[in-house]
Amino acid sequence: MATVILKKGRARPVLQHHPWVFSGAIARIEGEAQDGDIVVVRDAGGNFLARGTLNRHSQITVRLLSWDQDEAIDLTFWRARLAQAIAGRRALSDDAGTTAYRLVNAEADLLPGLIVDRYADFLVVQFLTLGMDMHKHEIVSLLAEMLQPRGIYERCDEEMRAKEGLPTQEGCLWGEEPPDLLQISENGLRFWVDIKRGQKTGFYLDQRENRRRVQVYCPQRTVLNAFAYSGGFAVYAAAVGAGRITNVDSSAEALDLARRNMALNGFDSRDDEYVPGDVFQVLRHYRDQGRCFDVVVLDPPKFAHTQAQVQRAARGYKDVNLLALQLLRPGGVLVTFSCSGAISADLFQKIVFGASVDAGRDVQIIERLSQGPDHPVLLSFPESQYLKGLVCRVL
Ligand code: SAH
Repeated sequence: MATVILKKGRARPVLQHHPWVFSGAIARIEGEAQDGDIVVVRDAGGNFLARGTLNRHSQITVRLLSWDQDEAIDLTFWRARLAQAIAGRRALSDDAGTTAYRLVNAEADLLPGLIVDRYADFLVVQFLTLGMDMHKHEIVSLLAEMLQPRGIYERCDEEMRAKEGLPTQEGCLWGEEPPDLLQISENGLRFWVDIKRGQKTGFYLDQRENRRRVQVYCPQRTVLNAFAYSGGFAVYAAAVGAGRITNVDSSAEALDLARRNMALNGFDSRDDEYVPGDVFQVLRHYRDQGRCFDVVVLDPPKFAHTQAQVQRAARGYKDVNLLALQLLRPGGVLVTFSCSGAISADLFQKIVFGASVDAGRDVQIIERLSQGPDHPVLLSFPESQYLKGLVCRVL
């Protein structure tokens, strides 16, 4: 097994169990190793630090798997890591009203590059790093054995895989091919999910608890659900008797699914409640028309993919939050999210503050939201905290 020797003074993050070794921290690699291989990481003095997978193609050159010198990376290791992640979701797997959740959340479950989501009887997996991709067969057979799904389907995140030098790859890896639309339950509500072609692995599982939390603001209230996708927040709002719910999304397919999800739960809706288009343009148009809402939900896609994009992303967040604040009646509620890891909670709050100043309105934060418990944050890896939300009341 080859050895990665760190530069002097660069061992601290590894000792603290941060799971990444950047290329700049590496002094040299001793021995023969192919990218994807397991390597041992040692400090400048030759002391054992950890084991992980090598990829010289990536800035994150080693992804750490184990800090225990006596632990081999074998089938027993993978089984134990998967079992630990699965056990952590017991509360969800015991809840008959929820059949879709994340079972493995990559680095935060000490399994860098591996995502496993459960959708009813099917599992959707993502292998986002070369190191994890090399162990695909072992992991798929362990998941089949441990969870006995009907099928295991692979989805890929092209952006992440490209950074690792991996090709796009999707399809059924084990068992039955999933149907085009699969029905799941979430907190007792039902949804159609397209796990083969939908966004992410098919559904925004990280928002489950937030969709429920927001219900309290919705009875008899008009709701603008901006960046609606397949209607997650809309279905929850309808379930508590919201007034008119307007869904805006640039994807006509997503809105079509949103309409079907409302019907699946027995909720009426009108065609003009599904508005295809760019949220920025549609909200500007509503503002110019003088339209008002009681509740606005803003759940945009990731605006900042890298640190370099933070400034531009901040402008986007500010603009859309300003528009939302301008559309709210006095006493109205803004539920606003950012899923950009590069935008900190503190910066996000400042951005929303900037929007409130420009809107000329006094705004209170009444709740702070984050990702659900099946998307844990590893303390030694604060990068795993990406979703933040503010529930604000406009005075
Ligand atoms: N709130 C949703 C998830 C939203 S994901 C849920 O709970 O399931 C973000 C959505 O924003 C995607 O559906 C994407 O199609 C849409 N989107 C991205 N950019 C957009 C834009 N400029 N205007 C409108 N929709 C956009």
